[in-house]
Amino acid sequence: MNVIESQPYKLLIGECWREGGEGRTFDTLNPATAQVLAQVHEATEEDVDAAVLAAHEAYQKHWSKTNPAQRGRLLRRLAELFERDREKIAWIETLNVGKPITHSLESLKAMPSSLAYFAGIIPAVRGETIPVASHDVLNYTLREPLGVCALIMPWNYPMTLTVNKLAPALAAGNTVILKPSEVTPLSTMALARLFEEAGFPPGVVNVVNGPGATVGERLVTHPLVSRVSFTGGTVTGARILASTASDVKRVTLELGGKSPLIVFDDAALDKAVAVAAGDLIKNSGQVCIACTRLLVQETVRDEFLGRLQTRLEAVRVGSPEDPATDMGPLVSATQKQRVEEYIRIAENEGARPVQYGAVEGAAAAGFFVRPTLLLDSAADMRSAQEEIFGPVQSVISFRDESQALHLANQSRYGLAAVLFTRDGGRALRMARGIQSGSVAINTGVRTSFDAPFGGYKQSGIGKERGLEAIYENTQLKNVKYDM
Ligand code: NAD
Repeated sequence: MNVIESQPYKLLIGECWREGGEGRTFDTLNPATAQVLAQVHEATEEDVDAAVLAAHEAYQKHWSKTNPAQRGRLLRRLAELFERDREKIAWIETLNVGKPITHSLESLKAMPSSLAYFAGIIPAVRGETIPVASHDVLNYTLREPLGVCALIMPWNYPMTLTVNKLAPALAAGNTVILKPSEVTPLSTMALARLFEEAGFPPGVVNVVNGPGATVGERLVTHPLVSRVSFTGGTVTGARILASTASDVKRVTLELGGKSPLIVFDDAALDKAVAVAAGDLIKNSGQVCIACTRLLVQETVRDEFLGRLQTRLEAVRVGSPEDPATDMGPLVSATQKQRVEEYIRIAENEGARPVQYGAVEGAAAAGFFVRPTLLLDSAADMRSAQEEIFGPVQSVISFRDESQALHLANQSRYGLAAVLFTRDGGRALRMARGIQSGSVAINTGVRTSFDAPFGGYKQSGIGKERGLEAIYENTQLKNVKYDM
């Protein structure tokens, strides 16, 4: 399937597809081959300003005047078009991100439902009457959109993260500017082709491409942008918080993680092994909620590790275009270097890195790293504390429940946690004690568009998805009317 355009991808600003103001383009690669896949026009600061202005005008003239039924109809139409083009978009993600095609197809399956869900939830954008103490006044609330929202995405799940930000922002009545990662912009460009066909008025959705330090920074600091929804690294998130502080903008941050998977001695071990292996392999471990600290009770450590190692030996690392591949490359040379550096750091601090599976054939030209366990890790090692964002897990033993809880919370992050136990009381105690935004018991953490998601501690601020996403995308006005 020929899914990549041969001409440089243009920016979508208002009703125009245009080149960047200075005519500059940048390359985006296929990480499985390290070859250039396509060129993309880079926005200048003036282009960003033009996109914000287009979104602002579209908000004032059209979008803020639409009613829920109109917005719902457009989102449902977009869902249909997405379904029509889903396979094409999945192939683009496979070529640009390096996800095995089976995984790309699977991860995009829910996107039409996400769009339809937020179309259906639009009636929740409403206020209520408040029975205040004074009977003489009518006191009510209005839930109103915020205006122009900047949606900034990372490279690991370009499409699912875009759709899950875009759908509630539009449903709530905002206009948006999408800023995909400069590493993986292509699937967002394919999505951008659908807005006009779906019937969205020009300017309701705009797309700008380029580096975060210039394009992203200009976008988040633009005075007409009232909300920033950012997914990416904690350092970038903190920077965005600082650069938007003086304007007191509404900011939602979905940041990094170092999630624990806790295996008690009464766990269903095969299931726990499947979740641990899945988190190591899926998207080459480049998943914010992936469990990267395996906390295993001493009494089942050898049994659990034996089964996990057998599973990992069978992993097929290779071309993401091959449906038989379990794990593709990392997204970039930078990411590969970062992961390999952390494996060295782990070894120097006393852990024992072991790699599994094999990189097959010609695939070796790309940015591949085999699944790696850091055996004999200690909780305070840098490799067990810092986000690596690759196919690497630290293995740490614990004695009892209280030590397991202590180790689970011994992290600056708090995105997700998984625990396996058959003891219901213990499961509930742990779920309450764990400091993270998501907890999964006897199953893996799988985010979905209809349940709230967001981190504790340095994993973020605010929630996305579900009804919470509508609240995050609106502001509440209280009106008092003395009758
Ligand atoms: P990143 O922080 O480097 O970049 C993310 C996006 O921010 C990119 O589009 C980039 O261009 C932009 N950006 C960079 N500097 C900016 C600035 N000063 N102002 C505005 N925008 C700027 O992250 P990444 O390397 O693309 O992605 C990996 C990170 O994303 C990991 O830390 C991972 O945990 C995190 N992540 C979190 C979640 C979540 O939901 N919590 C989901 C996926 C990924």
